[in-house]
Amino acid sequence: MAVTRTFSIIKPDATRRNLTGAVTAKLEESGLRVVASKRIQMTKEQAEGFYGVHRERPFFGDLVSFMTSGPVVVQVLEGEDAVKRNRDVMGATNPADAAEGTIRKAFAESIEANSVHGSDSDENARIEIDFFFKPEEIVG
Ligand code: ATP
Ligand code: MG
Repeated sequence: MAVTRTFSIIKPDATRRNLTGAVTAKLEESGLRVVASKRIQMTKEQAEGFYGVHRERPFFGDLVSFMTSGPVVVQVLEGEDAVKRNRDVMGATNPADAAEGTIRKAFAESIEANSVHGSDSDENARIEIDFFFKPEEIVG
């Protein structure tokens, strides 16, 4: 299995509850390594651009409001099969469906305020990493 990278966001519901460390610990325990990390306040334009694929979905406006409601921590994670490894430790989008031991089972408040984002493919990981990080900000 190849070592790859994925992109993660610790969402405002988690930073608000001071869970940055607790979420990061679960990522690290799953075998992922944080190779870039910064705490930012996303602008409306950034959130709309980042979630552009969901523009037509009924929850789009609420999602943009939520993602700009407080600071987030954007991270690049590295590990074997990083996209899948991260999706596995995140758990299902809706915490009601998330498996025991996952981040969303432990911490998510709702299907919207679900504590973390993770890329869903290697291609999207590359696009999302480039959206938030310069190459020199990533130190493996
Ligand atoms: P993410 O992309 O954040 O990693 P995901 O891939 O599990 O999560 P998506 O279907 O890509 O889920 O949805 C993106 C985000 O939009 C979700 O994480 C959640 O915050 C929000 N969302 C998804 N479905 C709903 C819904 N039905 N109602 C409200 N918010 C939703
Ligand atoms: Mg998604």
